Amino acid sequence: MFIGHFGVGLGAKAAAPRASLATLFFAAQFIDLLWPTLLLLGIERVEIVPAASGLTPLAFVHYPISHSLLMVLLWGALIGAGYWLLWRRLKSALVIGLCVVSHWLLDLIVHTPDLPLYPWESSRLGLGLWKSVVATALVEGLIFAAGLFLYLRVTKAKNRIGVYAFWTLIGFLVAMYLSNIFGPPPPSTTAIAWLGQLQWLLVAWAYWVDRNRAPRAQY
Ligand SMILES: [Zn+2]
Repeated sequence: MFIGHFGVGLGAKAAAPRASLATLFFAAQFIDLLWPTLLLLGIERVEIVPAASGLTPLAFVHYPISHSLLMVLLWGALIGAGYWLLWRRLKSALVIGLCVVSHWLLDLIVHTPDLPLYPWESSRLGLGLWKSVVATALVEGLIFAAGLFLYLRVTKAKNRIGVYAFWTLIGFLVAMYLSNIFGPPPPSTTAIAWLGQLQWLLVAWAYWVDRNRAPRAQY
């Protein structure tokens, strides 16, 4: 899952209007932001298997630290607690912790059974929606659209940057998703890891967007 996680980050703004969109993106996508570094360090492994599971050419052979349920719960608690220590906003901290955990639950819908429950040997889960490109794109598209709707309901642009930076970010996310679906498989696992690192730019972009938008008066 890709764009669905960003949908969660956008929608979470309705529950935590004072949290930056960058923080919400960071939380909802955290384990996929951590994963490329673990790949580059050789701690986690992925293999390229064309048409392994319909939509994705990737086989997630080993990713216990970024994607096991136990670790994701721990990451969620740590990131939520970190936010609370910095800002002392309990509700936002809870929303942020839940965003981290939401990643695993959404991945569960689409992944084939490769998501471990805990970091050591455990059964692996996944409902396998990825086998159908249409169903996956529909589910992810709906989550993204719902998130976008909620985000637009609770924020407004302060200036022109708040409009253009926001809509180019949305357009870029959609374009990236389409190229994931229709583009060729990545040339190597190292390329996957470095492309994955580029997602940090999306967090920075969201920070820029957030600085130029404000919560609507009633929120
Ligand atoms: Zn993931």
